[in-house]
Amino acid sequence: MAKQAAAPGTCYICKEPITKRTAITHLKKIHAEESGDIRYAIMVDTPRSSPYWMVLLVKPDATLDDLDESLREIWVECCGHLSAFRINGTEYISNSESGNDDFFGDTKSMKVKIQNVLIPGMTFSYEYDFGTTTELRLKVADSIAWHKKKEKIIMAGMNDAMEFPCTKCGKPAIYHYNEDDDFTVLCEDCSSDEGLDECYLLPICNSPRTGLCGYEGGRYDDLP
Ligand SMILES: [Zn+2]
Ligand SMILES: [Zn+2]
Ligand SMILES: [Zn+2]
Repeated sequence: MAKQAAAPGTCYICKEPITKRTAITHLKKIHAEESGDIRYAIMVDTPRSSPYWMVLLVKPDATLDDLDESLREIWVECCGHLSAFRINGTEYISNSESGNDDFFGDTKSMKVKIQNVLIPGMTFSYEYDFGTTTELRLKVADSIAWHKKKEKIIMAGMNDAMEFPCTKCGKPAIYHYNEDDDFTVLCEDCSSDEGLDECYLLPICNSPRTGLCGYEGGRYDDLP
């Protein structure tokens, strides 16, 4: 994907418009408590510039497993691929009960509490699917005193869905069509062309995994 600027977004707590740059300050100023449970405000985006970003508020005693689950539900899950976090040179891999299995070398399991491996200010990375990989960059941007709530992880803000013009006619596109290349997108009408092979059609989703493997959207996608 070519370099692109971060798209404007929305605070999911109050529905105010925010940007990637203002998101953390907004949450802190408008929504934080005087005192309360501390949550890590984790900014999630991509290693190369892209429009996609979101802020997760994470309880420090949640595990990397919990974080993996949220990233999958919101942005990446397609067909149950493996995933991994890389933190300070250590790799934490999904579904790895024992760690140290032969194939993956010296890795650890994700059953570790976030507060034991991350502190505010740290940057780390995440990979989903080691074939058609989606790589994310994460930063513990701040810690925020938050309302006592059960959820271990709250999705507090995200970039707004973007519109793409249909490659054939310019109307708003709703599908990727990946037969020949990765950048053909089609509107409703053009996607029902009989000459097209349906198995190459994937819905356009608000996620850096849009158009890859069999990705069909996550918890916040509003799809055709
Ligand atoms: Zn807000
Ligand atoms: Zn897949
Ligand atoms: Zn069209």
